Amino acid sequence: MVERGRGDLHAHTTASDGIHTPAEVVRKAHEAGLATVAITDHDTVAGVNEALIQGEQLGIRVLAGIEVSTHADGGEIHVLGYLTDNGNVQWLNRLESLRGVRGDRNGMIVDKLRALGVSIAWSDVEAVAMERQQAGGAKGKSIGRPHIAEALIRKGVVSTMGEAFDRFLAAGAAAYVEMPKIHPAEAVRWIHDAGGVAVIAHPGLYGKDGLIEELIAGGADGIEVYHPDHGQAEEERYYAIARRYGIVATGGSDFHGERLGVSYHGALGSRYAPIGAVSAIMELAKERREA
Ligand SMILES: [Zn+2]
Ligand SMILES: [Zn+2]
Repeated sequence: MVERGRGDLHAHTTASDGIHTPAEVVRKAHEAGLATVAITDHDTVAGVNEALIQGEQLGIRVLAGIEVSTHADGGEIHVLGYLTDNGNVQWLNRLESLRGVRGDRNGMIVDKLRALGVSIAWSDVEAVAMERQQAGGAKGKSIGRPHIAEALIRKGVVSTMGEAFDRFLAAGAAAYVEMPKIHPAEAVRWIHDAGGVAVIAHPGLYGKDGLIEELIAGGADGIEVYHPDHGQAEEERYYAIARRYGIVATGGSDFHGERLGVSYHGALGSRYAPIGAVSAIMELAKERREA
């Protein structure tokens, strides 16, 4: 298979915490001259269909993707999945269980705050989230601790975000709730069970190269070598690891959108996969489906 043009294999949409709709992200990728863009929202494939339809209309390849949140050795690890069968009910149920856990966690934090005597209701947190969504134009963005922090400021309980986190919300603080998450090796297995290709996202952000190599030995298909938060040293180190294990080296911008003309993480196409990566992912997925 001849592969032409650049592929940005890491982009978020309004299906998770991106600013632009899936169709908008695909249009922007097309405008940026990309040949391929992967839609990789956090713990959901809800944006994929809209992106696929837009991609077909514009003649740009859209890879169905996801970025699964996992936990290992006291830190968060992200696992990218490509070309999973999104009609697979077990896969969809597993993803839903991950998202359900997150929703419950926010409620548990609010319960803990109330138990501490703080006058705050779930509706206060929702009000903040709703305003933020309207201000930023982002729909479907999940509620998180920053929204709770802002509600605490509005209630006059604390005066800054920093104080909200220090006193209540940070790991180990009074209202902190540990988020039960799956291990990255389990995310790799889930992605494989759904016929997809599993890639360890931005390994340079974890400081856990031993774990990365364990995950590769355990069956991860690739690592994200090119990412806006990787410097040249990380790119070289992870490219060497990919070569050593004979796995796919990928790359992407981790695009979340622009606000006031400024991209947070990277601009679409600012990081991209090496030539051959997209074909390799498609080949692997094909083998896995046929197995
Ligand atoms: Zn990530
Ligand atoms: Zn991401």
